[in-house]
Amino acid sequence: MYGILQSYLLSWIIFGFIKWVDSLTSISRWNIITPFPVWAQFLFFLVVHDCYIYFFHRWQHRNKYLYRIHEAHHSISDVDWIAGARSHSLEIFINQTLEFAPMILLGANPVVIILKGVVDAVWGMYIHSNIDVRSGKLQYFINGPEMHRWHHAKVKGNSVNFGTKFAFWDWILGTAYLPRPEKPASYGLTDANYPKGYLQQHRFAFRQMKSKKETKQIMHNLLFIFIFFPSVQEIQRGDSFFVAQDYQAAISVYENCLRDNPYSAEILWRMSRAHICLGDISQDEVKKGCYEEALTYSSQAVHYDSLNSDAHCWYAVSLGYIAIYEGNRKKVELCTQIQKELQKAIRLNPNNDIAYSIYGSFFRALGNVNWIERQLADLLLGGLPRGGFADAEIMLKKAIELAPNIIRHRYELGLVYLDWGKKEEAKKVFSQALSLAPTLASDEIRIKDMKKKQSEL
Ligand SMILES: [Zn+2]
Ligand SMILES: [Zn+2]
Repeated sequence: MYGILQSYLLSWIIFGFIKWVDSLTSISRWNIITPFPVWAQFLFFLVVHDCYIYFFHRWQHRNKYLYRIHEAHHSISDVDWIAGARSHSLEIFINQTLEFAPMILLGANPVVIILKGVVDAVWGMYIHSNIDVRSGKLQYFINGPEMHRWHHAKVKGNSVNFGTKFAFWDWILGTAYLPRPEKPASYGLTDANYPKGYLQQHRFAFRQMKSKKETKQIMHNLLFIFIFFPSVQEIQRGDSFFVAQDYQAAISVYENCLRDNPYSAEILWRMSRAHICLGDISQDEVKKGCYEEALTYSSQAVHYDSLNSDAHCWYAVSLGYIAIYEGNRKKVELCTQIQKELQKAIRLNPNNDIAYSIYGSFFRALGNVNWIERQLADLLLGGLPRGGFADAEIMLKKAIELAPNIIRHRYELGLVYLDWGKKEEAKKVFSQALSLAPTLASDEIRIKDMKKKQSEL
């Protein structure tokens, strides 16, 4: 009974969700797969989805959190044709959304969608059925009860036969197990505490997590899928204003996005970035206000998603700008924090050119601290991080390697060479930078400055 209700309700939710995604993105109007014959479409989705299911299923058995929504399927102690229907709703939601969304979005023939649904249902019954099929050599290619039975075995289940429709994934990737003609002694979970009721099993998947950090990690993943996804298009609209250097317009679009998704780190760090860029081109009286706003947004971004590289990067940038207005003791304190944030940003995304660029500027500032100041800072203020021009050069060169068309990276490298007394290198880098097209409104200021410096060199 529950099974029927569940599949009816879920298909309504899943198809509603996919249609909603389509209404936001209108991908289906491209009809990407429509020109291909029905049999080819069917075969394509059958193989691709089965490959996905193999890996996702295998991952579910390795990851203790993903396993929570898969346990229900393994809780059956008698493997028979109806058993395949037992699964946690969230597991069905994930798998069927990933199964049907591509078909609908790529514009598959409706016959393919119906046929796939029917084949799924029949196949599920077949591989769980209690019949004595002997498929011989076919078992290397097509999955059936002979193999799937062992996946439900109490002792073997976690490590073998993850395939659903095709068996070759298991044979190729070394997870196949088929000791013919034996059958497993018993089926089900080894955990005696696993509840029997349908609703209890659903709730059991969300039982107390081990630590706050682990809970946060899961929330991060869920937030990304369910909350961040809808606003992608709107965020892109804000980004296009940002690229066009209309920071006010970008901010008002992001603000709208934030109203719906106040915890989205992706929007929060963009807000921070837009405020920094706005501050860069504002009059001195309003600059500080912009940077303070940027700091508020980026600190929230880091708070809600500690695994987001851009959030850490823009948090470091805003701390750097705020440091300008602070006294020496606070400056030294901020230095340590900025370095930590930049290191995190790079660790989370080794291709974050902005993080490298800011790190370069950070080392340049350290390079400009003279020996006496450093001794004083060490003595009175708790010590400055190590580093100087040589480190700055490494970081900025890395930033240039990752993003060769950004004026800022080259401009900052030129400044390092100037401070370092390497005039020829500075000249060369500045002239390279001057040949690039501006991407930020503040590039105008940099270009002016470089031209002035070039003429003095
Ligand atoms: Zn399984
Ligand atoms: Zn099964």
